[in-house]
Amino acid sequence: MRAMVLEAPGRKLAATDRPIPVPGRGEVLIQVAACGVCRTDLHVVDGELKDPTLPIVPGHEIVGRVAGLGQGVERFPLGERVGVPWLGWSCGECRFCRAGRENLCPKARFTGYQIDGGYQEYAVADARFCFPIAGEAGDAEAAPLLCAGLIGYRSLVMAGDARNLGIYGFGAAAHIVAQVARHQGRRVFAFTRAGDDAAQAFARDLGAVWAGASEESPPETLDAAIIFAPVGALVPLALKAVEKGGTVVCGGIHMSDIPSFPYELLWGERRICSVANLTRRDGEEFLALAPKIPVQTEIETFPLAQANEALARLREGRLRGAAVLVP
Ligand SMILES: [Zn+2]
Ligand SMILES: [Zn+2]
Repeated sequence: MRAMVLEAPGRKLAATDRPIPVPGRGEVLIQVAACGVCRTDLHVVDGELKDPTLPIVPGHEIVGRVAGLGQGVERFPLGERVGVPWLGWSCGECRFCRAGRENLCPKARFTGYQIDGGYQEYAVADARFCFPIAGEAGDAEAAPLLCAGLIGYRSLVMAGDARNLGIYGFGAAAHIVAQVARHQGRRVFAFTRAGDDAAQAFARDLGAVWAGASEESPPETLDAAIIFAPVGALVPLALKAVEKGGTVVCGGIHMSDIPSFPYELLWGERRICSVANLTRRDGEEFLALAPKIPVQTEIETFPLAQANEALARLREGRLRGAAVLVP
């Protein structure tokens, strides 16, 4: 089978022929139907995340069908459509895991980072961390729900009951969160790079009441803001736009340094927090909610062999919605 492999950070992925992996105890073999391309994959490929297992097959927005069962797996029948997210394994024993905060497990292992991911024709995953993917959505359309959707959802929950919600960086996660936020009766204010008319138009198409440049002041104060762009300089800008008592949620796994800013911007019980990974409960909640809205993902598909091209397009911001690899 064909796999796209990262041999060292900073290098392009290499197309490699490998034997189909064999699922171990508790694992399922999945024939990959689609795998979304996430900004985190870029951080792995570019060496911005420490200690990836190398070589590694990236990709943690996998949708596929169960093609083999390891010992002891009864959760899924052969042929069932399942999804594999970023959190691939956690210890189940530490204080975080026991408190339902497995996203913070110090021993957690992540798909496409420490466990081979979905940029290949077959992948193996721990059955306990897979989700059934029901509903009408196509495989490629469902793929971005597994991270952009899930992490976006967790970020939205962290934003509390904000009515006026700012979203900084209008890519794959934002285009899903905007639909959920609107469904919940919130008003979305979208911030993009200055001059990115296409992203601003995209945000308005998805129901944003206002779209403009990140440096602009929105026409109304925000109750909370979520930052998806990996740009630390957005934190003081978002604090400035947020009302007293409001939260600025940093939704990405990596961000450039946050510049210093006057305490006045934080004063008034404003808060800054980050979102780390996901829990299985987030997945169950969000994947049940998405078909009810229904969330419609906007995707651009690429053949597996064009993974490097898809990553380059994401890096340059030349995508509307999400890139998805289809083996
Ligand atoms: Zn743990
Ligand atoms: Zn991701």
